[in-house]
Amino acid sequence: MQSIDNIYPRLSEKKKIVITMHQKPDADAMGSTLGLFHFLKQFGHDAVVISPTNWANFLNWMPGTKQVLDYERETENANEWLDAADWIFCLDFNTLSRTKRMAEKLASVSGEKILIDHHQEPQVEVFAYGISNTGKSSTAEMVFDFILASGYSEKITDEVAQCIYAGVMTDTGSFRFPSTTASVHRLIAELKDRGLQHSPVHEALFDNFSENRFRFIGNVLLNRMEIFYEYNTALIAVPAQDLVKYDIKTGDTEGLVNYPLSIEGIKLAAIIIDRGEERKCSFRSKGNFDVNTFARKYFGGGGHFNAAGGQSKEPLEKVVEEFKRAMKENREQLSTYKF
Ligand code: 5GP
Ligand code: MN
Repeated sequence: MQSIDNIYPRLSEKKKIVITMHQKPDADAMGSTLGLFHFLKQFGHDAVVISPTNWANFLNWMPGTKQVLDYERETENANEWLDAADWIFCLDFNTLSRTKRMAEKLASVSGEKILIDHHQEPQVEVFAYGISNTGKSSTAEMVFDFILASGYSEKITDEVAQCIYAGVMTDTGSFRFPSTTASVHRLIAELKDRGLQHSPVHEALFDNFSENRFRFIGNVLLNRMEIFYEYNTALIAVPAQDLVKYDIKTGDTEGLVNYPLSIEGIKLAAIIIDRGEERKCSFRSKGNFDVNTFARKYFGGGGHFNAAGGQSKEPLEKVVEEFKRAMKENREQLSTYKF
């Protein structure tokens, strides 16, 4: 993988460009791809954003979401774009497998793949160019860096700014995670200086849920959460019937894993959701407990030090058992607290 610096001098050559992200995109994946899209469009490139799967409704306010292709629903059209693309920007994921059914296609096409990502252990051999920096708060921050380094900062329009803000704000947990560096605050100041209104972005992302989702959360916290105080751990296990009962849609469970972290002493929070075809796990931690390693070792996943995920094909009860076993194996790290 060659340095992304090689791309800047070529930005003014007309290209056919695909920009893509990980499956079930979150606000960082959607914000970084659309931020880059609105930037690149200004050069006159023929560009499109492709999501490997559908996404949460609360992302639909972002400028450009209406034009985003859902690979699973619009496979033929998306494949035509992928076949013809000179450049394929791959944002907010480290391995092609994170694009689910699109992975095989991505591996076979001849366009140059360009990585912009902040996850550990990127599959560098599949990318022609790129940058991987686990020290970055978000991929949206890296898109901002990309734009500044390219020398075209005047192309940070309001659309670009809104998308970047959404990614940075959500991936830093509203500027609270340790990844929130001074540079992140400088970036936000820069966007504010350019006229960004941040309050509507928060409202669009956080105050737009259905009543069902709210009642679902109530049920989950009351009936589906177990606390293991001697391990400073909380586990939420959601059976498939809850998702049906409350009409839960893509994105409705996002952020739920963070709730137990606000209980005094809880250092590891986990959620296991029975999604039918698989059991999806999310892990969040505070301080020195490394959930990236935990997710890799026990749940075929990965992510970051304090936020990671995985999955299992086993039934829910089995995955819960496996989690408890893994928790017990990590007793020592879980019982000491350090920042
Ligand atoms: P979430 O729990 O919100 O799904 O994901 C948290 C973080 O872990 C994200 O950065 C996400 O990209 C990563 N992640 C989630 N699930 C998986 C997985 O199955 N495999 C890998 N490698 N990373 C994951
Ligand atoms: Mn991210």
